Amino acid sequence: MSILSTIKTSCRDCYKCVRHCPVKAIRFSMGHAEIIDERCIKDGRCVLVCPQDAKVIRNDTGIVKSFLKNKDFVIASLAPSFVAAFPNIDPSQLFNALKSLGFSLVRETAEAAELVALEHAQLVKEGKKAIITSSCPAINALIYKYYPQHIPYLAPVVSPMVAHARLLKKEFKDEHPRVVFIGPCIAKKAEREENEIIDEVDVALTFDEVKEWFAQENIDLNQFPIETENLSSVQWARAFPVEGGLLKTGDFDTGILSQESVVITGIERCQRFLENFENEKEGLKVIEMMSCEGGCIDGPLLKSPLSLYQRRRKIIEFSQKNASSHHTKKILELPSLRREFNPLPIPQPQPSEEELRKILNLTGKFTPQDELNCGACGYNTCREKAIAVYQGLAEAEMCIPYMRARAESFSSFLIAVTPNGIILVDENLRIVDMNPALRQIFDLKGRLMVGKMLDEFIDPSIFVEVRRTKKAVSQEIHYPQYNNVYVKLSVFYLEKSGLLMGVFVDLTKQKDQEQMMEEIRGKTLEKAQQVITNQMLVAQEIASLLGETTAETKSLLSKLMKILRGENVEE
Ligand code: SF4
Ligand code: SF4
Ligand code: SF4
Repeated sequence: MSILSTIKTSCRDCYKCVRHCPVKAIRFSMGHAEIIDERCIKDGRCVLVCPQDAKVIRNDTGIVKSFLKNKDFVIASLAPSFVAAFPNIDPSQLFNALKSLGFSLVRETAEAAELVALEHAQLVKEGKKAIITSSCPAINALIYKYYPQHIPYLAPVVSPMVAHARLLKKEFKDEHPRVVFIGPCIAKKAEREENEIIDEVDVALTFDEVKEWFAQENIDLNQFPIETENLSSVQWARAFPVEGGLLKTGDFDTGILSQESVVITGIERCQRFLENFENEKEGLKVIEMMSCEGGCIDGPLLKSPLSLYQRRRKIIEFSQKNASSHHTKKILELPSLRREFNPLPIPQPQPSEEELRKILNLTGKFTPQDELNCGACGYNTCREKAIAVYQGLAEAEMCIPYMRARAESFSSFLIAVTPNGIILVDENLRIVDMNPALRQIFDLKGRLMVGKMLDEFIDPSIFVEVRRTKKAVSQEIHYPQYNNVYVKLSVFYLEKSGLLMGVFVDLTKQKDQEQMMEEIRGKTLEKAQQVITNQMLVAQEIASLLGETTAETKSLLSKLMKILRGENVEE
């Protein structure tokens, strides 16, 4: 199952998630949002902004429960932002609550964060310049998917989550431990599945999943006694989730006037910096980048009642109160903290100017003045959206001003009220629109048709011909598969928009009446024939008695038969 997905039935087609997605990893198809996994960097923005809660995050607690059931030695690696996520309890209460779920041990990820920061400092000592920190997996994904040319600047160092797993697996190697990271981040779930470090961390849970688990087990965290803290020996790494935390931990110059380091948080700011990286990196030794504004303390699944600044204060207080005077106690032989990043570039096919123009024409944009660039569709400009249509990410109808204007226009009014069915298809024979009358004629109520290929609806051969010749064609057609509907179908080529329009005049009633009349006529003829035969017999009998001819009677009855057959009758 994908880490992130959309509940189609909940999605209300508002485009808010597209508007906020920094890399436009959301496709609209049949009027619903769909996350494209390869494009997504799992920063979680779409989850936070969706007003319908239509985005779902994969729940991985089941895997941890299976480890526990299996009696595995399961260690919780608790991200340093936990003090902001559980602000009203003592850390020892959280540790004990986790143990009551079955974890064998609870350790702070900060232990490894300290080593990760020092590894970054080591890179600078080795003479590397403009190093981009690699502790935020959403930023790493942004770089290896969208800016692969900057990978040489991305620190080849694992994140604190992976470093901690390596550390714990070495320290407890005899117990063959399972390491479960718990933090505020969706991107960590994707990070543990990256090829270069796959499965080093056994599971990445969010604080949200753990809170839900406590609720399922009716665990009240306040029930646990506060114990004298027995926290790890960490100097500054508990401040990692605050912006600048890595630089502070790695003893970089973090002064406000520092010329050698810079901290950039918030995905758009990071994108802008990376766009202009060649100029921006000038003179810098290290660049701390984090996807969430303010750092992990604003992680998508931290969900704290505290404001961002209260969270920051809480973390810094906790960090200062428990800071040891020296760096982490190192185990005898540290595991390597290095890793590779490999490019996974996202193909971005670009349309030619002519192709772009055709797409813009579909929504009534024929001149630059028609391009409103209002952003209502989720894209910044009409051209950006047209490119997304070309790339199969967006649908032409996502242009709200166009759709509204169309709905309000007189011709649209006519199309809406005409008893004739009308369909519009694009040059690829994909259905762009159809009016209510057409749905009625073919009994398509409630069926999603827009966006489908025409051949999923009817035989498209007339449309194919009109597309080729650009000349209108009319034909009577019988559709036995749609309740024996008979129509006269006229297809036109609309030069300006490049669309094909089909007009369906419903002949079903007329055909039914004709058939009924035919049946009545047949029956009447049969009856008349019977009457004539009987009359002739009677007439012959009377004539033989009176000695007269029956010719006149026969002639009159024959005329009646011709009238019924609709034939000409001579006087
Ligand atoms: S934000 Fe996206 S997923 Fe949510 S309702 Fe709007 S379009 Fe659908
Ligand atoms: S997680 Fe981020 S990149 Fe992925 S679809 Fe949502 S907003 Fe876009
Ligand atoms: S800033 Fe922190 S919480 Fe946000 S995506 Fe990066 S690692 Fe995850």
